[in-house]
Amino acid sequence: MSSEKETLVLYPSPGMGHLVAIVELGKLFLGHGFAVSVVTVDATYTTGAASATSTLIHRMSSAHPSLTFHRLPAVSLPPNSSPHHEAHAFDLLRLSNPHLLRVLSSLSQTSSVLALIVDFFCTDALDVAAELGIPSYIFYTSSAASLVTFLHFPAIHSKITASFKDLGDSPLRFPGLPPIPARDMPLPLLDREDEAYKGFLFHFGRLPNADGIITNTWISLEPKPLKVIADGLAAPGGKVPQVYCVGPLITKSHTESRHECLHWLDTQPRRSVVFLCFGSLGAFSAKQLKEIATGLEKCGQRFLWVVRSPPAPKPALAPGGGESAKLTEAPPEPELDELLPPGFLERTRERGMVVKSWAPQAEVLRHAAVGGFVTHCGWNSVLESVLGGVPMVAWPLYAEQRMNKVLLVEELRLAVEMRGYETGAVAAAEVEERVRGLMEAEWGKEIRERMEAVRVEAEKALAEGGSSYVAVKELVAKWKAITT
Ligand code: UDP
Repeated sequence: MSSEKETLVLYPSPGMGHLVAIVELGKLFLGHGFAVSVVTVDATYTTGAASATSTLIHRMSSAHPSLTFHRLPAVSLPPNSSPHHEAHAFDLLRLSNPHLLRVLSSLSQTSSVLALIVDFFCTDALDVAAELGIPSYIFYTSSAASLVTFLHFPAIHSKITASFKDLGDSPLRFPGLPPIPARDMPLPLLDREDEAYKGFLFHFGRLPNADGIITNTWISLEPKPLKVIADGLAAPGGKVPQVYCVGPLITKSHTESRHECLHWLDTQPRRSVVFLCFGSLGAFSAKQLKEIATGLEKCGQRFLWVVRSPPAPKPALAPGGGESAKLTEAPPEPELDELLPPGFLERTRERGMVVKSWAPQAEVLRHAAVGGFVTHCGWNSVLESVLGGVPMVAWPLYAEQRMNKVLLVEELRLAVEMRGYETGAVAAAEVEERVRGLMEAEWGKEIRERMEAVRVEAEKALAEGGSSYVAVKELVAKWKAITT
């Protein structure tokens, strides 16, 4: 046994974001002498996903030769009427179980597989781990608050009979959290007849079956939801495995050259620039882009804005204009002259920069010139903002971002809400008022001060002896103990 390689196997759900996040976790453990193998499935329901994943895997394995990748063969998917890509991912993962079993069995013959770590869409894989007697862990990449809502979700489901989409802003009550308006639940959970809803319900109910849950948060950020979980009040029946908070863990940029927007930021005064960026999938209509542009122009602040092409037309899913239905790995480059108001770029040239499609966000948020962030509230964006000490305006779009917004605005008070986000039509005047206020008003100053205190706490959690550092050590000790 001792001559065998001690191996951790990571199994992310399809999609680049999931892969990148779990690999970042794996890198934490490489330093402790484990071999790390990553098993991937291609999102066959998304155009271009397979080749994009290949490129990313190639880059990751060149950067970290000690990571090994195993790609599962494609499976054919049954018809699924849900407009949400998550429903297709659930089918894909369930049908991939036999392939996962084969890969894990073969890895177990040449190494000592100490743990299977899956992301939270992959709870079917817990059965495979159980069959082979391998301990299994969920890597939960969002807040502890949203983990409470998901653990508690089966209880809420059995209490009410209506779909959330029919409940408007009626408050849903989850232990230890501020009330969450029903309309702020993630889009795939709004309609209880949808296959995606049924899939989530099933997977939420299985989260407690893992041997542990590893989360990308830290104890001092979310003491209340973490206590609810530790006290057994989150899931029906009270059974929840130990939660290990190892965050904030953020993704290191994979690009070699420095992006031009960072050079531009070098020329701007300290804490003077508002950064607007909406995740890997956030995209606005042409009309909304024009409203944002008008608001930015009128507010008079310096800005760095990542503009993406408007989404291709598709059936409306829900009020709010969320864009979660289909993943597009490579949307076309935006035509800025057509999308933005005539003369906008010229008039704001001295104080603003518009970047097409993608900016190195984590680095931007750590740049001294950045003083505010208008964000879609994706959890990675939140963590990057915290580590940069940058206060936020919350404009949630899809996934669990509306719930994150509730946490950020109501509980942590690290952000203010962009009014009108829920209708999908935010007026220029609102953008103007929020951006100016964030940079100049007393409330903006208060958020900045709170954010700075949270940033310091986050650094402490990661430092030697800090809570997240200790949680990683605990996991390492637990896995090492399996082989001794
Ligand atoms: N991101 C980036 N540049 C962009 C847009 C996104 O670097 O122009 C990165 C961002 O730094 C974060 C990730 O993509 O690490 C987005 O993750 P998040 O959880 O915030 O949102 P999601 O894309 O999953 O909705």
